[in-house]
Amino acid sequence: MHCAIQKAEVLDGAHLMQILWQDGTESFYPAVWLRDNCQCPHCYLDSAKARKFLVESLDVNIGIKDLSFDRKRVLITWPSEHYSEFEADWLKKRCFSQQAREKLQRELFFPECQYWGSELQLPTLDFEDVLKNDEQAYKWLSSLKRVGIVRLTGASNKRGEVVKLGKRIGFLYLTFYGHTWQVQDKIDANNVAYTTGKLSFHTDYPALHHPPGVQLLHCIKQTVTGGDSEIVDGFNVCRQLQEKNPRAFQILSSTFVDFTDIGVDYCDFSVQSKHKIIELDDKGQVIRINFNNATRDTIFDVPVEKVQPFYAALKEFVDLMNCKEFKFTFKMNPGDVITFDNWRLLHGRSSYEAGTEISRHLEGAYADWDVVMSRLRILRRSVQNRN
Ligand SMILES: [Zn+2]
Repeated sequence: MHCAIQKAEVLDGAHLMQILWQDGTESFYPAVWLRDNCQCPHCYLDSAKARKFLVESLDVNIGIKDLSFDRKRVLITWPSEHYSEFEADWLKKRCFSQQAREKLQRELFFPECQYWGSELQLPTLDFEDVLKNDEQAYKWLSSLKRVGIVRLTGASNKRGEVVKLGKRIGFLYLTFYGHTWQVQDKIDANNVAYTTGKLSFHTDYPALHHPPGVQLLHCIKQTVTGGDSEIVDGFNVCRQLQEKNPRAFQILSSTFVDFTDIGVDYCDFSVQSKHKIIELDDKGQVIRINFNNATRDTIFDVPVEKVQPFYAALKEFVDLMNCKEFKFTFKMNPGDVITFDNWRLLHGRSSYEAGTEISRHLEGAYADWDVVMSRLRILRRSVQNRN
């Protein structure tokens, strides 16, 4: 982006700067914002890319005393004789028009979302390629954000592969189940996942107020007798629920449900949380599904008359997830790693036969979306600079 300044002037009694760009567009910048964002070494610590200037020092009614410009920058003198310089590209990027703000927010947060159902073509990349090659790693994390799941193939059949992915991202998300955890049939299981039973659609760990954003699941050993994986695009199911049954959607997106998880693993734990099963942002967009029937508490903090309608709504939601047009079924093979958005997808598995020895073994781990998104932004920059 290179845009030259055609003209810069002060409006609104010195409280606003207008820039007319060479391409004919215009932008407006409040004086208070310009003063707050002065990029000089007194006001901004470039080594930290952080503001030094304090709100305590800011005159919120400040005006521009003097303004000059050339094609590449504007120069502002403040009433105190403090002096600020702003580059054209820097200003253009931060234009307050709705269009410019939307463009910048898209670049920052990768909001593109591809909904899917049973027709999903599971995005698949090579495990070693993702570890070694930035372009492949960028494909991995951008697809993970957009589609919600990526399968990596060609990992070993030994523990330790999800830790390598964690290091590729930055670091993993430690929970009470450890840095990584082993999904296999266990005596006196401290989690329903550690049995041979069917797991119906769930998100992991809604018992935490900040549930893991991304899940990594590596298949080390797979049984022949069942243990198939099922996934569903929770955001897509929510769209359908909102359209077909707005009352159920309204209940699930407004009722706080208690979750609990009590036991011992990495250390002893007694975890409680409250979540809306369908979590919306302030624009009414679904941002997270919080649902695990196993850890949904017997304690339910709602007035008695709301109990049965809640169950009716939940049943509608679960029935929709189980429709064959929505769910995608596959089987993991040893050396496969699935990486998926645990805020968006619900996952499950079919039961399998318990034997005298372990017939199925997955190693899992979690990562935080903030850490994954950070790596995604850095990978985009390194991939785009190369091309
Ligand atoms: Zn300054």
